[in-house]
Amino acid sequence: MKKTVLLSRSSESSTETLEPPPSSASLIGENDEYVDPLKHPSLSLLTQPQADNRPHIRVLHGGKPKFVQSERSAAFRTQFFPEATEMQWNDWHWQIRNRVRDVQTLANILDLSTEEQAALAAHRGSLPLSITPYYLSLLDRIDPQHPVRRSVVPVTAEFRIAPEESGDPLGEEHTSPVPGLVHRYPDRVLFLVTDFCSTYCRYCTRSRMVGDAKSHSCDRQQWEQAIAYIEAHPVIRDVLISGGDPLTLSDDRLEWLLSRLRRIPHVELLRIGTKVPVVLPQRITPALTRMLKRYHPLWVSIHFTHPEELTPETAQACNRLADAGIPMGSQTVLLAGVNDQVDTMKRLMHGLLKIRVRPYYLYQCDPISGSGHFRTPVEKGLEIIQGLRGHTTGYAIPTYVIDAPGGGGKIPLLPEYVVGRDGQDLVLRNYEGNTYRYPAYHQSSCQGGNLS
Ligand SMILES: *Cc1c(COP(=O)(O)O)cnc(C)c1O
Ligand code: SF4
Repeated sequence: MKKTVLLSRSSESSTETLEPPPSSASLIGENDEYVDPLKHPSLSLLTQPQADNRPHIRVLHGGKPKFVQSERSAAFRTQFFPEATEMQWNDWHWQIRNRVRDVQTLANILDLSTEEQAALAAHRGSLPLSITPYYLSLLDRIDPQHPVRRSVVPVTAEFRIAPEESGDPLGEEHTSPVPGLVHRYPDRVLFLVTDFCSTYCRYCTRSRMVGDAKSHSCDRQQWEQAIAYIEAHPVIRDVLISGGDPLTLSDDRLEWLLSRLRRIPHVELLRIGTKVPVVLPQRITPALTRMLKRYHPLWVSIHFTHPEELTPETAQACNRLADAGIPMGSQTVLLAGVNDQVDTMKRLMHGLLKIRVRPYYLYQCDPISGSGHFRTPVEKGLEIIQGLRGHTTGYAIPTYVIDAPGGGGKIPLLPEYVVGRDGQDLVLRNYEGNTYRYPAYHQSSCQGGNLS
């Protein structure tokens, strides 16, 4: 006789489609407590067949580690996480469970400045401290001005709120037809599927909501509402899945979402916005990329900040995504004292091309509450673009944009290449600063002058 008890879970859920995700409470609990999705009893999805009915074999840890580890990270692990095996370190669930969220642990690893200590002591509310052990291994332990360190360790300047700053400068809440969905442009939507990130950036545009245990972007009902809206609006041909970080969801929840969106005939393009390959490269497992490639065309935009993030681990993660046929773009926020030098930006962009990521956007830092210490003048961004265009590979040049406060969308900015007109000539400036004339009258005579 069969041991039916062992089979009951899968037989219960042997319906054709995957179950909707459980509510947020089961994945991210009351105190922002991350529950290992593989261990959580509510996730019967693990034993279910996949959407295409192929058996799903989950090999979490093969014989030999499937991840590269830099010497720097290996030395860091031995020093600060001596009980962790290499296999644990390379397991993204371990990285999330052991993310550093309290002053004591951080103070054991970093030589905290008084600014950092004071900020950590006074911090309340959303955008909490959280850094994965892996990303922490990239920080300078002594120097509080280290660019990667500044991007994730709070300082008291965060509490200074200038009059022009606000919690939602892009007016996302006003362009949300249903919670968690922003429909600002005619043919595409931004779908905020979670408010959880493994590591929080101090300049986060969505600091009003991320890491806040009380919000519910991950809520099943909210997902259903957003999907229903997309289904009801055939103009939507592009869905940008963001958050929070969508790649912190389990493979099963993510697959549920992707397969659900793929079934909507008018949705041509799926995009995922993530920082996971940078802060949690261990998440990019062969199983994940095998799953993702079933939902093509799928594009991924990766949030990069500094060339020091281009480690062997991140290169491996990006190469896996590229090998799965996923086109990747980068998004970078221009940050004072972090990446606001032509040379730094050029190294980052060159490094990205080497790992098959095409620089996409360079963002002027949004006037989010408490971000003044990160904001550069707009001239800085223009200077960087000018220092790249013509001087290096065209593919290495992102579009510099300001996301217009109030919800106007992204507005591109270019250095001035048009000097003016001289008679009918257009006077242009090239990347070296030399001027050239373009005989613009040809255009007007072609456009109809010779018809009369
Ligand atoms: C950035 C953004 C998009 C996507 O814009 P693209 O220029 O197509 O990459 C869509 N919706 C919102 C609300 C955005 O902020
Ligand atoms: S990864 Fe993105 S959503 Fe998460 S904290 Fe950083 S900027 Fe915010």
